[in-house]
Amino acid sequence: MKDKELFQKAIGLGPWFVVSYEFDPDEGRLDIELDFPPGSTFACPECNAEGCKVYDTEKKSWRHLNFFQYEAYLHARVPRVHCKKCGVKLVKVPWARPGSGFTLLFEAMVMILAREMPVKAMSKIVKEHDTRLWRILDHYVEEARREGDCSSVTEVGVDETSSKRGHNYVTLFVDLEEPRTLFVTEGKVRMPLRWTDLEKIWSPIKGRQKPLKRSVVTWHQPLLRV
Ligand SMILES: [Zn+2]
Repeated sequence: MKDKELFQKAIGLGPWFVVSYEFDPDEGRLDIELDFPPGSTFACPECNAEGCKVYDTEKKSWRHLNFFQYEAYLHARVPRVHCKKCGVKLVKVPWARPGSGFTLLFEAMVMILAREMPVKAMSKIVKEHDTRLWRILDHYVEEARREGDCSSVTEVGVDETSSKRGHNYVTLFVDLEEPRTLFVTEGKVRMPLRWTDLEKIWSPIKGRQKPLKRSVVTWHQPLLRV
């Protein structure tokens, strides 16, 4: 198998193919250039209409999983297609989410590492600024929260804990029936917690979920330690 085919198969890109690669051991990096065949058409990223013609392209790069100890990057000219309904739109590439400078596989690795270590420690290992890693975490946490279903929650436990040594408090709302954290907010909550206070705190996620039933909300004190 030729080198390019090997990368092609390893990355698994569908119609996209590996045009070239450059391996620089002194710089500690591998750069892989991708492209699409001439005459290709793409789906509109907004209405999913198939067969949209390429209008122009934008050059983009993504950090990918390391190739052994070397940092790997993908580069491609990403087409903007002309959709009859939506106008000119940048297509979605199969290896990254829109607007991210990382591949999905790199992001998946970040999410796995984040369970095991602080982001600051991870940033040293993967050699990325921690604010870039936080952006990945924020995206997936927010996505999970949007999709989270709190409609079955009937009992909530509330607790506060310090997020760092000192007085940076966060308050956690915990599902008491199915142990899981529902919501975390900065600061302390005044105790005893009144119903109106809970409504105020719960409201950011209330719009997407059924509100808590007042009759079944109970406060557990001493508070849970999560
Ligand atoms: Zn469209």
